[in-house]
Amino acid sequence: MQIEADQSVCPACGAARLEFFPLLHHMMCAYVGPEYDFFPAADGYTCPKCRRDIVSNDRACEIVGTIARCSHCSQEMVVSPPRPAFRPIDGAIPPNLQQMAARVLAAGTPRKQRARRRRLGIGIRTDHALREVGRQVSAIGERIHQITATALSKLKHASRSRKLRGFMTKGPGR
Ligand SMILES: [Zn+2]
Ligand SMILES: [Zn+2]
Repeated sequence: MQIEADQSVCPACGAARLEFFPLLHHMMCAYVGPEYDFFPAADGYTCPKCRRDIVSNDRACEIVGTIARCSHCSQEMVVSPPRPAFRPIDGAIPPNLQQMAARVLAAGTPRKQRARRRRLGIGIRTDHALREVGRQVSAIGERIHQITATALSKLKHASRSRKLRGFMTKGPGR
């Protein structure tokens, strides 16, 4: 099963209980699995396949993607495109790469930055942001509905007045 990076609802059961985990690749033994497959150890993780320790700055371990898991029905999903914000192991991403990413993200107008961050899921709580947008859109929709309804009732009133005017000696109230 595959989902988009900004999805927050489980496609299998509909619960909004998705948790996101980095997909790790241990190059020493070619094991690929979500972070929760790896056993927590004092200095990082222990590989479930080769039982070697994976420590901070371990270059034998890389993040190759993102896995989502529903905490309600336990369904696992591949997130596409992957969320790039994960840093499960301190320094697993070289610092200069982090700086480069920060520079790239800081480029462009604030609006473009926001759009880019939103797309990448960085620095915002996606579900909250989506709810906020949803609220605004429905508020705007409600307002448009009100304006349209008012305009329609005025139109109806005006055409009724015009028809009635023919039967009157004076204009309606004027
Ligand atoms: Zn589910
Ligand atoms: Zn391993």
